[in-house]
Amino acid sequence: MTKITVARGDGIGPEIMDATLNILKAAGAQLDIEEIEIGEKVYLAGNSAGIEPSAWDSLRRTRVFLKAPITTPQGGGFKSLNVTTRKVLGLYANVRPCVSYHPYVQTKHPVMDVVIIRENEEDLYAGIEHRQTDEVYQCLKLISRPGTEKIIRYAFEYARAYNRKKVTCFTKDNIMKMTDGLFHKVFEEIGAEYPELIKEHWIVDIGAAKLADTPENFDVIVMPNLYGDILSDVAAQITGSVGLAGSANIGDGFAMFEAIHGSAPRIAGMNKANPSGLLLGAIQMLVHIGQNQVAENIQNAWLKTLEDGQHTYDIYKEGTSKARLGTAEFAAAVIARLGQKPASLQPVDYSKSAANFQIKVTPKPAAKKELMGVDVFLHTADRNPDQLAEAIQSATQGALSLSMITNRGTKVWPNGFPETFCTDHWRCRFKNHSSITYDDVLQLLSGLHEKGLPIIKTENLYHFDGEPAYTAAQGQ
Ligand code: NAD
Repeated sequence: MTKITVARGDGIGPEIMDATLNILKAAGAQLDIEEIEIGEKVYLAGNSAGIEPSAWDSLRRTRVFLKAPITTPQGGGFKSLNVTTRKVLGLYANVRPCVSYHPYVQTKHPVMDVVIIRENEEDLYAGIEHRQTDEVYQCLKLISRPGTEKIIRYAFEYARAYNRKKVTCFTKDNIMKMTDGLFHKVFEEIGAEYPELIKEHWIVDIGAAKLADTPENFDVIVMPNLYGDILSDVAAQITGSVGLAGSANIGDGFAMFEAIHGSAPRIAGMNKANPSGLLLGAIQMLVHIGQNQVAENIQNAWLKTLEDGQHTYDIYKEGTSKARLGTAEFAAAVIARLGQKPASLQPVDYSKSAANFQIKVTPKPAAKKELMGVDVFLHTADRNPDQLAEAIQSATQGALSLSMITNRGTKVWPNGFPETFCTDHWRCRFKNHSSITYDDVLQLLSGLHEKGLPIIKTENLYHFDGEPAYTAAQGQ
């Protein structure tokens, strides 16, 4: 028996959870279930996180969470339960297999079997946003080396465990040379430890276009959080329906499994919803807890059900479908086929899959870090960069001197173009030819402040082991 925590969620949640648990039970899954309440009721009872504090005790006990979709109430103040759960439990990897079931489910991409592995905790989802001036808002994109090493190694270990042939990485490192650059670099470093796997990297824009056009050329794809969020929905949708995809959120000690779709309130309580997404999430859970044989039996019976044309309304099509079933009847059709394998769709084989691998990250020794200068961000509605440079230069003396001014990243001083559109947000770079101390920065800031130049924020300019750890300006 393995202890798991189950939440029935909102909307179609309870009916697809019933269908899923009935199938798991009939297939002989050895589960000791604890139920918790999450979602709309909890939100509306005044808990802005959507989950009772006591529910965390159950999750800490079981460490495995099968979760039905929930309804996030409209209006401000409610925090996303998914983001909270991922972050609190350290669920760094989001795994979404996207498979076509042609010709039984209509799709423009008959040959497609892609697994998207999305980093789940970092990137623009750190949620650190600020309004800095009248005109400019900022969202901080954070990519860490340990976070990247974990997700990249997870992707390679997953590919190995599931007999995949190729791992592709998507980034935008031609533009974001430091953050996405790190992701790409770690992909190359760790990839070298997996000689049996083919490795490739695409810039995310053309990579996404190729994924939407020729998904048959992809196998496992690993990417930072935002690209993964968007492209895993695209990949699931082009298989035929988002209703057919499950997802696993994996951490070091915890894991959460769910459907990728939401609570579909319009069809709630009508016994219409397709339980397949949650069922496939539950199958990932069974492999995770080592009940591979049960997982394999259920998925093969489910494939046979699709093949036999036993379809819920969302994938029902005159001609290919044979019966239009409700949620409970679809579950009964899967149960009736337990022990059978599909005849033309590829049966799954989880006999050798061990998905519960531990990912270790070795901390790197600290680099030699030297302070070489500072970027000071100023808020001024005066749009003349030459005048701004003059005002700054008259306000500052000491070790640091003004080397350039940019506006939205483009150099506007010295030798800027008069055509460049400027906002009220100026990045002023101060440097010295050798290393400085933070006292030099404080002296500079107090000079600027005394002259009434409004400072929004600063970013220190470092060299790590002698290498500049900041980017040049566009146009520099
Ligand atoms: P949705 O995924 O609930 O529905 C989108 C469309 O797909 C609808 O037409 C719906 O009827 C259909 N659909 C979804 N699942 C289906 C299924 N199993 N079978 C058949 N058809 C299905 O997305 P939405 O309408 O944007 O969101 C509804 C609610 O769900 C919102 O409150 C949203 O915040 C929430 N949501 C929750 C999760 C989650 O808990 N993981 C994820 C996404 C959205």
